[in-house]
Amino acid sequence: MRHHIIVLGAGYAGGYAAGYLARHLHPDDFEITVVNAEADFVERLRLHELAAGHELRRHRLEEIFEGTGARLRVARVTAVDPDHRTVTVVDDEGVDRLEYDTLLYTLGSSVADHGVPGVAEHAFHIAGRPSALRLRERLDELGEHGKVLFVGGNLTAIEGSTEIAALRPGLQVALATDGELGGWLGPKARPHLLRAFDRLGIEVHERTPIERVTATGAVAADGTAFDTDAVVWAAGFAVHPIAAASGLAVEDDGRITVDAEMRSVSHPEVYAAGDSVCAIDKHGRPLPMSCASAGFTSMRATAAILKDLTGRKGANTPLAYLGNCISLGPKDAVFQAVDGQARSKGWALRGRPAAHFKAFVLRGTVWNVGHPTYGRPTRRHRLAAAPGRSAAKTAPARSDEAVST
Ligand SMILES: Cc1cc2nc3c(=O)[nH]c(=O)nc-3n(C[C@H](O)[C@H](O)[C@H](O)COP(=O)(O)OP(=O)(O)OC[C@H]3O[C@@H](n4cnc5c(N)ncnc54)[C@H](O)[C@@H]3O)c2cc1C
Repeated sequence: MRHHIIVLGAGYAGGYAAGYLARHLHPDDFEITVVNAEADFVERLRLHELAAGHELRRHRLEEIFEGTGARLRVARVTAVDPDHRTVTVVDDEGVDRLEYDTLLYTLGSSVADHGVPGVAEHAFHIAGRPSALRLRERLDELGEHGKVLFVGGNLTAIEGSTEIAALRPGLQVALATDGELGGWLGPKARPHLLRAFDRLGIEVHERTPIERVTATGAVAADGTAFDTDAVVWAAGFAVHPIAAASGLAVEDDGRITVDAEMRSVSHPEVYAAGDSVCAIDKHGRPLPMSCASAGFTSMRATAAILKDLTGRKGANTPLAYLGNCISLGPKDAVFQAVDGQARSKGWALRGRPAAHFKAFVLRGTVWNVGHPTYGRPTRRHRLAAAPGRSAAKTAPARSDEAVST
C-alpha cells in the first residue's frame, strides 16, 4: 500500500504544497489526494475585484496538477477524525470517508461575524468566490444608484470599498469601523490612504462599531442608523470550525496549534499551513492571516513532510511578516513595510509604483502555485523508515529517482 497524503484545500497554501510534494515524492510509494471545494484555484486576493465587476482568469486545478500525479477531489470537507485518520467529504455523489497516513490541513478562513446579529442573514461579504459573486449581483441590481456600507477598517474593507467606489462611481460608498481607518499605517501611508478615500468620495465613519445588521442597513452602538442597500461585512477572518471540532489541538480562535515545522502538537501526522494555522514568527508573534504567511507556512510544512517521510532535509524557511501591499482601486495602492514587532515603518511605497508592485505580487502568487519548484527538475524521494510513524512500517529507505517537471 502506498503512503496516502491528503491535502485539504487548494488555495495559496494547499495548492502550492500539493504540487510541491507531488514533484518530490515517488509515485510508487506515495499517493497524493487534494480535496478542494471548487474545481478552480481561486485568487482570493482578487475577490474584491470580482465583486466590483472585473472578470477574473480561471485557473483550473486539474491543469495546475496535470502530470504531477496529485489527484484532485472536488468535494466539501465536513469533518476530520485525526484519531482514526479519516476525512469526511461530501460531493454530488454523497458522503465519502477518506483514509490518510499524512494530512496537510489548509482550509483557509472565512468571514468573522464576531457574533453580531443580522450579519449571517443580511450582510454580504467577499471572503469567498460565491459570496463575492452574490455581492456583484446585488451591485448590478443597484446599477448607477444605491448605497453600500462596508463594515471594517482593515485590508479587506479598504480594498473592497475603494475598488467598488472606483469602478461604480454612481454608488454612494461608505465605511464604518470601530477604530481608525488604517490606523496602524505609518506617517506616509495613512495620509495617502485618506486622500484616496477622499478622492473616491467614500464617507468614513471612524469609532463607529456596528451592533446590528438589518434588511435595510446597519445600526451602530451609539444608535446611528445607516440606511443602505447593501452592507458588506469585512471585519476580519475566522477559521472554519472543522479543526476545533476534530479534536486537534487548536488556539482559542480555532487555528491549529503546531510546532515550528507546522506539525500539529496533538497529532504529529497532521500538518497545517495558511490561515488555518497559528504559526509563531521568529519574534515570537503569531503570523497574521495573509498570503505571504500562507507561502512561508506551506514551505515549512512541505519541508517537514519531506523530512519526516523520506529523511530529506529541506530549507528552513524563515517565518516573518514584512508588510502589506493594499490596493486602493485599480490604479492606486500603498505598500506598508513593518518591523519585527509588526509596527509600521515610516517608509511606504505609494501610488502607481505601489499599484505596479501589487500587480506583480498578484501575478507571482498564481505563478508560484503552478510552479512550486520554479520550473526546476526535482528528485522524487522514496519512502524511508521513520521511527514512530506509519511510514516506518511500509517500506525501508531506497534510492531516489530524478525527474524533470
Ligand atoms: C478580498 C480579499 C483580499 C485579500 N487581500 C490580501 C492581500 O492583499 N494580501 C494578503 O497577504 N492577503 C490578502 N487576503 C488574505 C488571503 O487571501 C488569505 O490570507 C490567503 O488566501 C490564505 O491562504 P490559504 O491557502 O490559507 O487559504 P485559501 O487561499 O482561502 O485556500 C483555502 C482553500 O480551501 C478550500 N476550502 C475551504 N473550506 C473547504 C471545505 N470545507 N472543503 C473543501 N475545501 C475547502 C477553499 O475553496 C480554498 O481553495 C485577502 C483576502 C480577501 C478575501
